[in-house]
Formats: sequence, structure tokens, C-alpha cells
Amino acid sequence: MAAAGALFGPLFRATEGPVSARETVNRNSSPSDLKITDVRACRVAANYDYPLIKVYTNQGVYGLGEVRDAGVEGIALILKPYLVGRSPLDIEGNLKTVRQFAGHGRMGGGYSAADMAMHDIAGKVYGVPAYRLIGAKRRDRVRIYADTTDHKDPKIYAERMRKRKEMGLTFFKMDLHTELIADRPNAVNERGVSTDKGLGYLCEFIAAIRDVIGWSAPLAADHFGPLNVNDAIRYAKAFEPYQLAWAEDLLQTREGPRYPWQNWRGYKTIAEATTTPVNTGEDIFALEDGFRPLIDNHAVDVIHPDIETAGGLVETKRIADYAEAADVQVAMHHAGSPVGGFAGYHCAATFGDHFLAMENHALDMPWWQDLVTGVAKPIIDKGYVAVPEKPGLGLELNDAVVKEHLRRPGYFEPTPIFDDPIVSGFRLGGPWPHFDETGKWCNCVTYE
Ligand SMILES: [Mg+2]
Repeated sequence: MAAAGALFGPLFRATEGPVSARETVNRNSSPSDLKITDVRACRVAANYDYPLIKVYTNQGVYGLGEVRDAGVEGIALILKPYLVGRSPLDIEGNLKTVRQFAGHGRMGGGYSAADMAMHDIAGKVYGVPAYRLIGAKRRDRVRIYADTTDHKDPKIYAERMRKRKEMGLTFFKMDLHTELIADRPNAVNERGVSTDKGLGYLCEFIAAIRDVIGWSAPLAADHFGPLNVNDAIRYAKAFEPYQLAWAEDLLQTREGPRYPWQNWRGYKTIAEATTTPVNTGEDIFALEDGFRPLIDNHAVDVIHPDIETAGGLVETKRIADYAEAADVQVAMHHAGSPVGGFAGYHCAATFGDHFLAMENHALDMPWWQDLVTGVAKPIIDKGYVAVPEKPGLGLELNDAVVKEHLRRPGYFEPTPIFDDPIVSGFRLGGPWPHFDETGKWCNCVTYE
């Protein structure tokens, strides 16, 4: 009541005259006494491990975040000394401070987890869902895509995909590992790349899956092996009759530069040579020095950020908005737990019509959705996830289920080993031998 009076109270008081504007303004964005006090973690053993973090505050409220799947929690815990003592509501300020510890691939996981946890806290404190902190809600539910375990027999592979359809999925992806056809004569060359004959076999797999999911449903493809640009063009052109939603990561890290954004020219060459949409980005951190060259040069048709690597809600939203302005489509990679999943669903709720779908890599894990409480179940309902309206990310951990599946003992235990900064400021730590300002040799602290 007091808070409501402060926010919406009368502009004039009968006896005291006008109330100043300061007293009538919502001052939620002012610095408060809310401070980060600790960061702790645990790791769920799963199809890819899920490192989860909790960011604690001095007022009981805490935030959940997730490091990139198959990463380790230490990449988030090293941020602890740079976050403790700061307001969790200064999300972008805090992220600037820890950006020096973020990089591509799994190195983006700590920064991304910290962003999620601060959005969880800020949403709880302000009483708004996390999406509301980064934009307006453009959709009530987020479309999910998934692939399935492949098989060397196209008919069996297709039957597995039929089960995905029966689960309600409306957007599909298949893996086209060269291993599927490696036993067939003359199908694979000495570099592990399909010959034209082999490509004919790979297309038999696509055709078999098209037969069961139909032609109207989007179907993407991934995992082609160590292709160079010319190989990739050959592949993408062979796939054209099947009208894929995209061909993903055609250029692998074993060929050429380490990250796709460094090889945007190769991707652009491929994209310009084929009508098969080209997609990359699941291991890229951030817009600058990340997605930007791919988008600026329209080097791919679809970008594919993973919110657990790309930088959490703020950065993934920036990337997606930048892509929208350049007419590049956005899909989201995800192979983590529901914590990172819902961070992604909140983020995707704010994207424009250029958003396609977000991945789920745990459809065959019976306890995936039991890891959390507070959200509608089934989490994936007829191929979509409802965007929660509860404050923050809108979920809590189901402690009992998470504890059942820990990779190693310890559930959000203290981590004093991470209390000290891994990179210190200038001359921290006490006296040092030097001439002081009077010219006298001393082992002292002259100035901080
Ligand atoms: Mg992939």
C-alpha cells in the first residue's frame, strides 16, 4: 500500500502544497540496497551436462542461470568477485565488467549465465516477466524444433522422425553424418566428404523423412562433416529439391578459420551459389566480433545463436534485432536444461517475424521437464512452449530431481576458491618496493 501510494499518490496535498515530481516518480531504476552476495553452482549429468548457477543477494531474492551445455560451471564462478557487492539490477553495467572473461563457444557460458540470473532477479524485484525487461511480447508461445537419432536405414530413420511428429512437433531437423553412408561403395572420399554418388544416398534419407513429415513442414539438416566451400556448394545444391529450412554449419572448424564469423566470405560464397538457406552461429558469442560480419555481409540466410553462448538475453536480443534490420532470419540453438530454455523462450518472445524456431535437444529425456517447477507442463505442448507471465524467468529448480542427477556431489555449495579475482587491478595487495614522492626508498603504499 505504501509503495502504491508512493507511485500513484496524489499530485497535490491539501495542507503541504504541490508534491515534487521526484516523490511521484517510480524510482525502481535508482540504485538500491540490493546487492549480489554470492554465486554458486551445480552440474546436472545429462545428454550434454547442464551447469546451473544461482546468483544470491542480500535480500533473499536469487536468480538462476545456465552455462552452455557441455561446459563447466567454473566459467561462471570466476565472475563472482566481479559481481559480488554490485547491484544485480545494473545488468548491462555488470555485463560490461565481466565481458573480458567471455569468448566464443563454451567460453561464452559464464557471461550468458550471469545475464540470465540477473534478469531472473530483476524480473522478480520489479514484478515482471524477464521478456518485459528486454522488449515487448511479440508471441505468446515459442515454436520448437528438434532432430532425432539417426540410423543407417532411411526407413528406420524416417520412422523415428514420425514419432517426433506424433509428439506434436511441427518443425524438424535431421543429421546427415557421412557415417550414415560410409559402408556404401564409392560414397565417401578420402577426406570424409560425400562423393556425388554419396550425396545421392544422403538425399534418399531426406526423401524418406519428407515422406513421413510431408512437404509443408520445415525440415533443416546438420552435421555434414569436414566440408570446404566447394564441397558445401555441392551439398547445398544437391539438397535444393527438398526445400530445406536450412543447411547448418556447412563449414566445420577443422577446415579454415576457427569461427564462422571469421569465414563470412566462405559462407557468402556458398549462400550465393544455392537456393538452400545457409545457417550458422551456435558457437558465436556477441554481436560485435561475432555475428556482425555475417549479418552485415548477408553471408548467411539464417543465424543460430545459443543463448547460453551468445551472451544471454540482452546480447541475443541485440543480435536478433540487428539481424531483423538486415533481413536475416533467426533460429535458436539449444541443448541445455529448462533454465537456459526459458531464458531463450523469454528472449524469443520479443523477436520479430524473422524468428523461426528454437531447438530442444532433450525430447527423449523423461526427466528433462521435471528439473523445474512453476511452469506449465508439458513444457513443450504440441510443438510450442508457452511464454510465462510470472516474474523473472518464471521457474524454480525442483531440488529433489536436480539432486538425483548431479554430475558430482555438491548442490550450490560455497566456492571460496573463486573469491579472488582471476585478473587483479593495478598493484592490488599491499606495499611494494619503490621510491615514494619525496624520493625516499620505501616498501610501502604511497597511493592506491
Ligand atoms: Mg548444430
